Amino acid sequence: MSIVVTGATGNLGRHVVEQLLEKVPADQVTAVVRNPEKATGFAERGVRIATADYNTPASFEGLFAAGDKVLLISGNEFDKGRVGQHQVVIDAAKAAGVALLAYTSAPGSLTAALADDHRGTEKALTESDLPYALLRNGWYHENYTENLAPVLQYDAVTHAAGEGRVSSASRADYAAAAVAVLTGEGHENKTYELGGDIAWSFAEYAAELSRQTGREITDNAVSVEAFAGILTGAGLPEPLAAILAGVDASIEKGELVIDSGDLSRLTGRPTTPLAEAISTALKS
Ligand code: NAP
Repeated sequence: MSIVVTGATGNLGRHVVEQLLEKVPADQVTAVVRNPEKATGFAERGVRIATADYNTPASFEGLFAAGDKVLLISGNEFDKGRVGQHQVVIDAAKAAGVALLAYTSAPGSLTAALADDHRGTEKALTESDLPYALLRNGWYHENYTENLAPVLQYDAVTHAAGEGRVSSASRADYAAAAVAVLTGEGHENKTYELGGDIAWSFAEYAAELSRQTGREITDNAVSVEAFAGILTGAGLPEPLAAILAGVDASIEKGELVIDSGDLSRLTGRPTTPLAEAISTALKS
């Protein structure tokens, strides 16, 4: 019996494995990775490494065992049919008889196209009759704080979210919630709406950046069409630019405000303030 984490060499997956290692012996943790070379650090610490790819169903055959608790971290290959990819993991988990399959989804309130794969995966999971947990992760602080270069170049936060607010939290916060579910009891067939304790607007984000940098960083709200054009102009493929601009349209409608309190309740502590994530990013 093991706690199994897919996407373990991704940004969120690394946080999850690190935090699991603080709670359970390493030999009870399995990291599912595409490229074992990226997981040598985990292997050296005693984590079991399993190599599998969502695009290759055979690679998941026999990977899970009865009683395992599995975290399926959603993939990032938007053009490869993520629902089908995730179905591969669900089918393998079902064949093995795992005790829990937790899935990193998107907020139930999010109507942007980005959420379609998550709703499709949730449907596949709830119809599988497996014990499931839906971790509907809100936005990461890092979506913004790891992309400060253009903001600092133009002294402007450019977005298409108007006065909309975002309840973001750090990846480490969402990882802590996943670890609480994987190591705790009573999470079967539960849905958690996860987000930061404090929702902020882009004007407030620009003001906090100004405070921390000592520069005047302005709030530059543009239309969704203009924003998509700015993103493609910066080199993003058109479909991805449309998806990201669509998320801003959702933010303006309030769809990324999460006020359930589920995240801090699961982790037992307040979520990381955005100001702290900005400060960390500016120091790196
Ligand atoms: P990430 O760093 O891009 O990690 C994605 C993980 O998925 C990586 O470990 C990657 O493997 C793995 N993966 C992708 N395709 C795969 C495949 N075909 N087979 C097996 N593994 C595959 O993203 P993250 O920051 O950890 O976030 C986790 C997920 O949350 C993302 O994939 C995305 O679905 C979603 N997301 C959420 C937010 C948010 O704000 N809530 C923001 C961005 C993304 P490798 O390590 O081998 O690359």
